Amino acid sequence: MQSTNQFVEFPLFAEKQVTLVLKREDLLHPFISGNKYRKLKYNLLAAKAENHNTLLTFGGAYSNHIAATAFAAKEKGLNAIGVIRGEELKDSWQSNTTLSRAYDDGMRFKFISRNDYRNKEDPEFIKQLKKEFGEFYLVPEGGTNSLAIKGCEEILTQEDKEFNIVCTSAGTGGTASGLINASFPHQKVLGFSALKGDFLKNDIMKLVSNDRWELITDYHFGGYAKISEELILFINDFKEKTKIPLDPIYTGKMMFGLFDMVKRDTFAPNTRILAIHTGGLQGIAGMNSVLKKKNLPLLNI
Ligand SMILES: *Cc1c(COP(=O)(O)O)cnc(C)c1O
Repeated sequence: MQSTNQFVEFPLFAEKQVTLVLKREDLLHPFISGNKYRKLKYNLLAAKAENHNTLLTFGGAYSNHIAATAFAAKEKGLNAIGVIRGEELKDSWQSNTTLSRAYDDGMRFKFISRNDYRNKEDPEFIKQLKKEFGEFYLVPEGGTNSLAIKGCEEILTQEDKEFNIVCTSAGTGGTASGLINASFPHQKVLGFSALKGDFLKNDIMKLVSNDRWELITDYHFGGYAKISEELILFINDFKEKTKIPLDPIYTGKMMFGLFDMVKRDTFAPNTRILAIHTGGLQGIAGMNSVLKKKNLPLLNI
């Protein structure tokens, strides 16, 4: 399964003689968008091969990974359990678009406190969950493991050889790691961190087979899922001019950062940039309900 590359035209890029092409992974699948589809692919095959009938995974209230896992499990005839961060959602999840859609896809939830959520990798905690739910195939939070990285290595193809720079947004760094491993020797991968903090660099270092990459940490806008009016207006303007929607948590921040770097002459003339549109558009509705409460402008859908 391959996505299409789309050239996008902006006066800024023309002025700096830099080419920008978007790889539309967001269009790969109507519900399991972008990199979450890649990350689940080999995990689903493994779950089936090991004769599991249930997937269990972790995520937050607006998680693209929860949405993707619920839909993929349904498609493969597997049960799905989502362990969700935030006990308070127990009574209000029906009004959350991500969770109610995942429920309609058959996912069942266990809501736990933020404190308990920190144990998500603790073998004791996993054992407890197995007592409660029976055997399951465990997909880690954000979906990143070695099979997920293998799936993300398939994002790049021979035709992408013409680019010098490959950009992606980074959460756990699994997608960036796949791209780094699959990149051609003349290419450099830029991961735009969607989170505050430096740990991501070490995480990626452990997962990759070369050092032709850099983690860009200047465009997280205050941390995971934090957004500003400036970012919203940028995303709306990008949509108006290209007809391509960006999500506010990952791809919007990457594109904002990329524009800023081009403005600052980070890239030499004739640089050819491939930016991966990793998807995440299912989260826009949830973000808009948050923005409405804060009296901020809404994202155009
Ligand atoms: C999850 C996600 C990412 C981050 O992927 P990682 O492999 O965790 O770094 C980027 N973009 C979108 C749209 C996502 O949903």
